[in-house]
Amino acid sequence: MRVSDDRYSRDRQRIDLALRFIHHEARTRTIRTWTGLTDDRIRKLYRSYVADDAAGHITRHRGKSPQQITFFVRTPLMRQEASVLASVFYLLGVMPALQVADAVPHIAGMQRGEALCDAFETYRMLVPNPRISFEHAVFLVTALARGDELRASLCGDCRGLIVVDRFGAGQRHCLSCEQSRQGRLPLG
Ligand SMILES: [Zn+2]
Repeated sequence: MRVSDDRYSRDRQRIDLALRFIHHEARTRTIRTWTGLTDDRIRKLYRSYVADDAAGHITRHRGKSPQQITFFVRTPLMRQEASVLASVFYLLGVMPALQVADAVPHIAGMQRGEALCDAFETYRMLVPNPRISFEHAVFLVTALARGDELRASLCGDCRGLIVVDRFGAGQRHCLSCEQSRQGRLPLG
């Protein structure tokens, strides 16, 4: 492959990934971080994508990306959804092998970005009414990679993966094991 072809194909990959991010309603800053494209090119991609989006599905989000880990652990149902998504992250190689304090520059990149899109799309197929947006999914990857607030752990009964608040107490079981434990309580 000639150098120019190689460069062209890398550029094509970046654009394809940016389009996937746009489709999932990622913010410009997130797209820039993960694809390395400039804001100007991202804006142009947005414009052409929106022009093709005849049904008007795409919403452009502005402002800050999510930053509150409580989103993932505030209810048993959200914990379950976060656990499903985190499981897919691990299965598809989105998570780094080791925890990293400065997670974003360490994990953001083309290959992991593609795996992240695959994982998010898989999660949306697995969960009936998915509540975690793509931006929240990106935040979940970085929070788990940092490991200072959220952690992946194993359910004490079934050993399934669960997402726990590092400082939260009493989160030792997945939702279904928790429910069957509660169901068992009156019987002793
Ligand atoms: Zn369990």
